[in-house]
Amino acid sequence: MKKGTCKLCLTENVELLTKSHIIPQFLFKDMKDINNSFVLIDTNKFVKGRRQHVKFQRDAFHQSDILCEKCDNVLLKKYEDYLKLTFHDTKKSVSRPCFVGKIKDINGLSVLLIENIDYKLYKLGFLSILWRASISDLPFFNNVELGPHEELISQMLFKGNPLDESDYPFITSILNTKNDLHQIILPVTKFKMEKMTHYRFVINGIDLIFMIGSKNIEFNQKLLDFVPNCKSKLKVIMHKDNYGKDMFFSFLKRI
Ligand SMILES: [Zn+2]
Repeated sequence: MKKGTCKLCLTENVELLTKSHIIPQFLFKDMKDINNSFVLIDTNKFVKGRRQHVKFQRDAFHQSDILCEKCDNVLLKKYEDYLKLTFHDTKKSVSRPCFVGKIKDINGLSVLLIENIDYKLYKLGFLSILWRASISDLPFFNNVELGPHEELISQMLFKGNPLDESDYPFITSILNTKNDLHQIILPVTKFKMEKMTHYRFVINGIDLIFMIGSKNIEFNQKLLDFVPNCKSKLKVIMHKDNYGKDMFFSFLKRI
């Protein structure tokens, strides 16, 4: 292992891991086929003057020499474990977030409710993926640049402080696992809206839109229900049938 400065705890001359996952492996583990590989859209690579749009990888989204063992395997793992508890089944009898199911339909979209959700762990869990994408040199995350927010989010993760509900909020949606192409990871998209930079990650059925800005918007009560909040309840949108499939093919057309 190489020695250097850990990007999270900032300890100098510490042994750095040769493999730190930018997207936690459990989030896309079930996507791999029998050859332990999957298809990835690569928006940066050119072969013979043409963009190469798919490639097969045995493993993906990890980088060396960015984090020390303690930060990766203890600190960030605590957040990852919570996301796992939220989205994957467990036989353990622990207090966990609970999908109540569909509560209403709005213009063809279904709204689901998750109860008993831990504001800190859920928020920092997904913000840790955004932060890791920002510090990563992997071409796949090239357009994720948090600038001054990178350090602030790093401190939130390190101190375990999720700040206020209006600081770095994000909306969680999910793809329909029955009637959609949900086992996809799309290139991160970046767009400006309401003076804030938005980053959208679609990872194996989970669709996240992060809102990054120096002063975050005032939330009305309705919107607050859809971002991590202190009420232990979170509304999640379930997209219409084939929404993910349409997104996937629109990406293929662009490249
Ligand atoms: Zn560290």
